[in-house]
Amino acid sequence: MHQSARVKHMKSVSALSCSNEKCLDYGKKGSGNIVVHSRYGKHDEIRMLKCKTCGSYFSERTNTALYNGKLQKDKALKIIYHLSKGCSIGKINRLTGVSRDAISRLAHIER
Ligand SMILES: [Zn+2]
Repeated sequence: MHQSARVKHMKSVSALSCSNEKCLDYGKKGSGNIVVHSRYGKHDEIRMLKCKTCGSYFSERTNTALYNGKLQKDKALKIIYHLSKGCSIGKINRLTGVSRDAISRLAHIER
């Protein structure tokens, strides 16, 4: 087992854009509206971001999870919100009805 695949590539927030379709800065990169709000995940490796333009929160994992999975966006955002508050997967499962599997996919980075 070698570790080379585990090297972290932290994208600068300027490479990320707002995921709120109704936002004025939706999809715009590097406009300075995205700030890091907090971190979550096993090793705090996932950043919770905030758009200063529309005030919405999202995770840098949100888009990936949505593209890969079948989760609805509002559900995914809810899960990420609960995760950032430190809720357990079991609790989020009860709150949202989303499968533990889907929740843990959002909670943990797959490399
Ligand atoms: Zn926005």
